[in-house]
Amino acid sequence: MALLEVFARPLELVDLATSHAELLARRLAPWRTRDMLDEVIHHEFPGGVALVSSFGAESSVLLHLVASVDRATPVIFVDTGKIFGSTHRYRDEIVARLGLTDVRVAKPDPAVLMVQDEGAGLWMRNPDKCCAIRKVAPLSKALSGFEAWISGRKRYQGMVRAEMPIAEADGDRVKINPLANWSKADVESYARLHDLPDHPLVADGFRSIGCMPCTSRVAEGEDDRSGRWRGSNKTECGIHLGLAAFERDGSGI
Ligand code: SF4
Repeated sequence: MALLEVFARPLELVDLATSHAELLARRLAPWRTRDMLDEVIHHEFPGGVALVSSFGAESSVLLHLVASVDRATPVIFVDTGKIFGSTHRYRDEIVARLGLTDVRVAKPDPAVLMVQDEGAGLWMRNPDKCCAIRKVAPLSKALSGFEAWISGRKRYQGMVRAEMPIAEADGDRVKINPLANWSKADVESYARLHDLPDHPLVADGFRSIGCMPCTSRVAEGEDDRSGRWRGSNKTECGIHLGLAAFERDGSGI
């Protein structure tokens, strides 16, 4: 399948997802997070929703919440081929600890990498295109057949995340942001309360963890996400920018 076909969505389905997301966001807004997840997983989208997790610095909290609702919820992890080895080990530790039974690994198409990223240095020349072929396209394929997905973003992370609703349309799917209202202190106290292990790189100064070449340590007083794509204007990998923006900005694929 041509990569652009992955992103082609009939407009009427996009409109439906937009209305659905707006209604859902209003209904869920006053709910407790675990109740929200129970509603989304068991009643609103039964069998049709997946959690997307990077198994990064703060991922354990949402993974724990979802596991407490249903350990069989599909969890999608995008392995770009540039992930830290410690993230793989942390993922395995968390999956075993929480008893998650349906973790799916989405990977970039080797044929696309061979043509578009020969030598694997695309991240230096064109990080948007690198994210498009290594993250956005694999995730889009992995989400095929799902009506909705769950993301762990928080408003306190700033930039385009500062105004995000509890639910929003993402192409013809609904994206749920159950931690949108959480503060950093909420995340930390939940992790402490449930004795959740930190990603091993957190102790080494990494506070937002993605691909190895595009993640750096964060100094005291800096924003947590300032270590991502440091020195460039890029702040998101593209999976949260939505179909329209992704196509408008020109992924080059
Ligand atoms: Fe490529 Fe960096 Fe994006 Fe990972 S974060 S897919 S290495 S540009």
